[in-house]
Amino acid sequence: MIYMDNNATSLIDPQVLAAMNDIAKMPLNASSLHAYGRKARALVEQARDGVAKLVNAKKHRVIFTSSGTESNNMALAGLDNYKILVSGIEHASVLKMGRQEFSIPVTANGIIAIAALEGLLQQHAGEKILVSVMLANNETGIVQPIKEIAQLVHQYGGVMHTDAVQCVGKIAVDITDLGVDMLTISAHKFGGPQGAAALIVANNVPLRPILVGGGQEYGYRAGTENIAAICGFGAAAKYAVENVSKMYKVAALRDKIEGEIKAFAPNCVIFGQDVLRLPNTSLIAMPGVASDTQLMHFDMAEIALSSGSACSSGKVETSHVLLAMGVNPALAQCALRISLGIDNTEQEAGQLILKWQELYSRASERPKN
Ligand code: PLP
Repeated sequence: MIYMDNNATSLIDPQVLAAMNDIAKMPLNASSLHAYGRKARALVEQARDGVAKLVNAKKHRVIFTSSGTESNNMALAGLDNYKILVSGIEHASVLKMGRQEFSIPVTANGIIAIAALEGLLQQHAGEKILVSVMLANNETGIVQPIKEIAQLVHQYGGVMHTDAVQCVGKIAVDITDLGVDMLTISAHKFGGPQGAAALIVANNVPLRPILVGGGQEYGYRAGTENIAAICGFGAAAKYAVENVSKMYKVAALRDKIEGEIKAFAPNCVIFGQDVLRLPNTSLIAMPGVASDTQLMHFDMAEIALSSGSACSSGKVETSHVLLAMGVNPALAQCALRISLGIDNTEQEAGQLILKWQELYSRASERPKN
């Protein structure tokens, strides 16, 4: 199988898996007072340091959670009496909280409309405001000017959260430089295990827990820590910076794929090609061929891709991200996401291009009615 769906989940790094294997065999609960408990506590704190270093968190606390979804839920639910502004392109774990009172529009090229955001902030000057905008979009890979947005939000006294789930291991993520107050990351998107993620929160943010009970994670997130997964997260954090340094190769492969597809089929649409994107992501519409038809074709050819907007039932929905960008719904329904990893080869890219061209030619020959 050729795996090109790394934005859904990445292959676990063998070194990460090895580190976790030994730990998973031990009865580790970080709240226990005996030797195993002390070992568990030390392992959690070591992983916490590794994650903090990875994103250059200095005046922040790293709160371990179970998933990017939980971290995003926590960021949106944990501040009392705040008015919440989010963009229309956020992940479902932000949008489906239903806490937002206002939606920040995006431009046709998928970037937050800064002037519109400023207008909203002016309207609510003097109120407690939380703004949540993702650092990069999981479907298009489009990267937002978060530093600029955070500065603007702070100018109006607001709190700024960013969902950086898709960014770690692909581009540099520095919470201090970005100047955001809360940042979400998730281990399984960059060579770590599923079941470990974090919300990284500036010390001065009055965040309240959404899970209460045993007081773990310094009272911010109750529940016995998933020690093996947290250690895997810490180990993946060590390799993430190295992975970023290899991303120029991934970007070159992505550009080659896009170039060859465009040369063969000038009417296909590559979303976000003119703006800053993650180096591994390409969302391409093959006009007239539905995403699920394309997915099946590639699956039969043993190439794993995604529509970018599949829900947990596996059903392909029209992408809310493309709709928010003003893309014609008929075109949005023909989009397919390629999300490469550092191990994808030229040969695999060649195979993908071949299969893409095959389907495109077949669809072009079909009589139109
Ligand atoms: N945010 C973004 C941008 C994502 O792409 C995802 C997962 O696809 C999530 C949040 C949720 O992360 P998790 O799968 O760890 O719950």
